[in-house]
Amino acid sequence: MKTSVFETCKDFLFPYTCMGCGALVSQPERFCESCKKDLIYVGELPPIAQIRAAAAVYPYDRVSAGILRRKKEQGFVSEKAMAEDMELAFHRFRFPLPDLILPVPAHPFKTWWTQYDHGMLLAQAVAEQFNVPLGVGVLGKQRFTRPQHTLDRKKRSRNLVGAFAVHRPDQVRGKMILLVDDVITTGHTISACAAELRHSGAREVYALSYAYTQK
Ligand SMILES: [Zn+2]
Repeated sequence: MKTSVFETCKDFLFPYTCMGCGALVSQPERFCESCKKDLIYVGELPPIAQIRAAAAVYPYDRVSAGILRRKKEQGFVSEKAMAEDMELAFHRFRFPLPDLILPVPAHPFKTWWTQYDHGMLLAQAVAEQFNVPLGVGVLGKQRFTRPQHTLDRKKRSRNLVGAFAVHRPDQVRGKMILLVDDVITTGHTISACAAELRHSGAREVYALSYAYTQK
């Protein structure tokens, strides 16, 4: 978790940098002129099984890939800035306010190994932005899966069978849930999560991601 001292030093050393490419910008703006020119908004996504509706902010392209990389590798992009964009995308479609926000879970070994649960940090920022409770330990990943983009269509859904489990069904039952992820590719992963949530009695499941790539 970042400390406020770190944030202060970072702001001093890097007064204003572009979220997309890290170039210095003269004003407190999020993007440099070049990245601003390349920004495209995605909005509502095509239907995904088990998901009532899904939205994303940007396509997975040079700018959004840069943002996600800079967030993960250097921590120069704040989850709060991403969450603000995600809230705008969400409200543009008048999705109902959820009762509970959940991250797409990572395997516990992975978060232990990397020391960070990036998905959780992003979902936490979105939950704060929406002023909606964040579900911690509600949905879990119980086995390793191969990266979805390395598999063909058939193997993708098989890869996720039994991968996720609801650990706290009492927190899910009857709830309107928003699943948060940094990138949605085919939607198989959030669909598998939503299937488990609905099986445990969730009323509706919506999804919101920062980037979207159709492969
Ligand atoms: Zn830039």
